[in-house]
Amino acid sequence: MNSYDSIINNEILIKSLKTAVKHDRVSHAYIFDGERGMGKKSIAYAFAKTLNCERGGETACGECLACRSFDDGNFPDVFYVGPENGVIKVDEIKENINTQVLTSPYSGKYKIFIIDDAEKMNAAAQNAFLKTLEEPPEYVIFLLLTQNFNGLLPTILSRCVMFKMQPVPQADIKRYLIKNGSGEGEADMLSHYACGAVGRALELRGSDKFAEITAFAFDISLGIKDWDVVELYRRTAVLKEKKEEAPAILRVLSYIFRDALIYKMTGAEKYLIHSHRIADMKDICKKFSTRQLMRACDAIEHASVRMAAKMDMQFTAEQLYYSIKER
Ligand SMILES: [Zn+2]
Repeated sequence: MNSYDSIINNEILIKSLKTAVKHDRVSHAYIFDGERGMGKKSIAYAFAKTLNCERGGETACGECLACRSFDDGNFPDVFYVGPENGVIKVDEIKENINTQVLTSPYSGKYKIFIIDDAEKMNAAAQNAFLKTLEEPPEYVIFLLLTQNFNGLLPTILSRCVMFKMQPVPQADIKRYLIKNGSGEGEADMLSHYACGAVGRALELRGSDKFAEITAFAFDISLGIKDWDVVELYRRTAVLKEKKEEAPAILRVLSYIFRDALIYKMTGAEKYLIHSHRIADMKDICKKFSTRQLMRACDAIEHASVRMAAKMDMQFTAEQLYYSIKER
């Protein structure tokens, strides 16, 4: 638990952290930047544990009292601050950071503050934080996790050591998922949807919502050729209601039609994202010509652009379904 072993494809970053500990050159503030699910929190907690391990090695021993209480969630010198309703307010910084830094660690060597989604600090919060960051006590270390470090003041950035998280290759995510309980087909699919983030793959694996969205998209793909006009309008209304899920639905749809197109052209299962739905893929390939599949892919992309631009949802949905069905 809380070890570097669970983090894939970020060896350089981990090596830098280990070297800093080894040579006693640990900075007062670090930024780990990367999208959700890329392992920022895992790195931060593994580093925090290492810093307070009683044996003081490059990695946490996992056995000393500090390591054990860290894994149990009882370690008293690690503090977590994150946004509430999308924002970290100045009071949060004052109460949980600026006041806390004044007293020395309770049992560890360092007091460590993990600020999650740190760019969500509003201007007042960032300015309050900056005051502490400018002259932190010796025993304080800040670990800022960001999805977009540009949201932080340049004066904060200049005082932090920054690391960018590296995306994990699809094949590595697939291997990781199989090692951790997924079947081949599921691992294949999730590793594609993960976009380089192991955490995202794991989140999707347990998500009823994702299962529902996938079922919805397959239902469209398999049925749309048989819809009459009344049914098409009914379905349009359904999609229009699903405004929030619509981008995710379109993403699944685009992968389904991409799969169908590839299968139609190559007949090879091994290239498919949804290889575990091969019977459905064959069905879709029977209903659409190669040309129609290509056009469906275009239509889905077009609809995604329109949705991202928040254009008329009714018209976008109609156009999408008509294009897939008729062309
Ligand atoms: Zn230890």
